[in-house]
Amino acid sequence: MKLPILIVKYAIACALGLVLFSAQAQETPKQENHGIAVTDIDRSLKPGDDFFRYTNGEWLKRTEIPPDRAAVGVFNTLNDVANKRTAGLIEEAAKSSAGAASGARKISNLYKSYMDEAGIEAKGVAPLRPHLDAIAAIHDKRELARALGGGLRADVDPLNNTNFHTANLFGLWVAPGFSDSEHYTPYLLQGGLQLPDREYYLADNEGMRKIRTQYQAHVSAMLKLAGFSEPDARAAHVVELEHAIAEKHVSLADDQDIHKANNVWKQSDFASKAPGLDWGEYFRAAGLSQQSSFIVWQPSAFAGESALVASTPLETWKDWLAYHLIEAYGGVLPKAFADERFAFFGKTMSGTPEQLPRWQRAVGIVDFRLGDEVGKIYAERYFPSAAKARADAMVANIIAAFRKRIEALPWMDPATKAEAQSKLTTLYVGIGYPETWQDYSAYEVKPDDIFGNVWRSNLFKYRHEIERLGKSVDRHEWCMTPQTVNAVNLPLQNALNFPAAILQPPFFDPDAPDAVNYGAIGAIIGHEISHTFDSEGSTFDSKGSLRNWWTPADLEHFNAATAKLVAQYNSYHPFPDLALNGQQTLAENIADVAGLAASYDGYHASLGNGTAPTQDGFSGDQQFFVAYGQAHKNKAREAALRQQVLTNEHSPSEYRTDTVRNIDSWYEAFAVKPGEKLYLDQPGRVRIW
Ligand SMILES: [Zn+2]
Repeated sequence: MKLPILIVKYAIACALGLVLFSAQAQETPKQENHGIAVTDIDRSLKPGDDFFRYTNGEWLKRTEIPPDRAAVGVFNTLNDVANKRTAGLIEEAAKSSAGAASGARKISNLYKSYMDEAGIEAKGVAPLRPHLDAIAAIHDKRELARALGGGLRADVDPLNNTNFHTANLFGLWVAPGFSDSEHYTPYLLQGGLQLPDREYYLADNEGMRKIRTQYQAHVSAMLKLAGFSEPDARAAHVVELEHAIAEKHVSLADDQDIHKANNVWKQSDFASKAPGLDWGEYFRAAGLSQQSSFIVWQPSAFAGESALVASTPLETWKDWLAYHLIEAYGGVLPKAFADERFAFFGKTMSGTPEQLPRWQRAVGIVDFRLGDEVGKIYAERYFPSAAKARADAMVANIIAAFRKRIEALPWMDPATKAEAQSKLTTLYVGIGYPETWQDYSAYEVKPDDIFGNVWRSNLFKYRHEIERLGKSVDRHEWCMTPQTVNAVNLPLQNALNFPAAILQPPFFDPDAPDAVNYGAIGAIIGHEISHTFDSEGSTFDSKGSLRNWWTPADLEHFNAATAKLVAQYNSYHPFPDLALNGQQTLAENIADVAGLAASYDGYHASLGNGTAPTQDGFSGDQQFFVAYGQAHKNKAREAALRQQVLTNEHSPSEYRTDTVRNIDSWYEAFAVKPGEKLYLDQPGRVRIW
């Protein structure tokens, strides 16, 4: 467990990421009409001069960025909507009198147990006591190894949710294997730090030094609250140990390089490759002694951390274990613990002035720990099967469009084309909600025991994960709940998930014309599909195995074809002294233009021989492109925009919108003429797929 504060995933969590907007919400969506928002269009501008402001100009004029926000856009508005709906469902379940074994009762019990502040205060530190006693009883390094192994949890996910952090010594991820994508395989990742990354311990600058001082005071305060003697001295040792662990950690940039992560260790290798920790005892306590091999994500960190187990005094490790336990459960202990945690992790670390109201944190806990139980109700209520059928049909048309485009590529080797086609054949695009739901029947939830509920939830998830090791992979399994405003690419499953909560206006509206849905969510779906066979997707084959299936000649042609796009984006200057970096944003810019082009083809396939209906005088094609622009509606402060240009792999919304200039039919739709600012002659327009 990381922060039992309301967990909201901003932006996109997929490894091959799709970040659309990343600020927080303000405006409540007004959906008077089903289709493009004509009142947002600035008709004083020519589409060919500035398409972003043409589609969004009136909205930009009337929208103020709230003083405490860096930007405002569509994504955040949807987040607010989904959060309110989820809260409503949970509160409804909490009032119901559903049967003891039902999902609604579990939701209700979990919610009530978190809201039971009086009960939590009355228990004090009693729920911690047996666990602290067990730590105090550790006599030697063998028993320490047992405690460390018993603490292993399935709390990391380096590829789908890009979560590399666990405060436990190591973290487990169960997923299809890099080389055997047919079976669930255990991945082990480095851990042991409470602060988010090794840089917090190692970086030599004023800001980080200050955080470190405050962190040590926080560790001491937590130990003191739990009744430990000499909390200052213990805290100093704990922070010293974490510093030593941080020195062994691999950097985030190296973490993200999957070619460095594919290290298969037999269980018997650990003792020789990472001596120090009693691995036999560790794996036994973790319930993994039967597991013959593992993929070790960061071998050097395993060697380093294991050596620290041997070289660091037992008493320091015991204090580390105790503090990590108190921290992990601080949010469900009496108020003094939760307040101290928030003062450090909320205020100091994140600059958040106030804790969310308790009921909102309760909603966050339920959503996190019973996500599918809530998701089942969410999907039923807010994403009817007719909406799903409509979106599924769009996906089929867009995939068919990609198929034709790949087949027609003059430069791609036939063998590479064949693999790209079979990737399209096996690609699973999950829309709205999963086909099967997580079964929580083995998870016991009591109405008056939040500590136990959280403890059992972590253990339930861990057992669920290790029980399926070696079993066949379900490629249709989801890694996001329907109520999540996000989308994700699962490369080892060759799958995409588009949860119900992102399939809302202005991205998707079952009552809107096809033109609008293809222009908005269709282009996003196309964007993600493009990633599955571009320079990133070429790393994984049609079965999801780690294997490069491009020939060197293909790569060379691809690079030549994309050079024009690099130049196009290099020419954009959001500020006189700052240009976009076409190379840094290349993969995303390719996915944008490819996704838009394929979605346009899919849209026309959906029309068959029919003519598209007009809306407020806009033709079908015009609606398609306007919807694309309006899906990128966003207003950011200068500092935020500058930071995005410098550090993000996605171009700012304005320039993502302007990629319409690469599509011939956009010129026809808006009668764009030479001399207009976005006009490109035929050779200047970029076609990738
Ligand atoms: Zn992307």
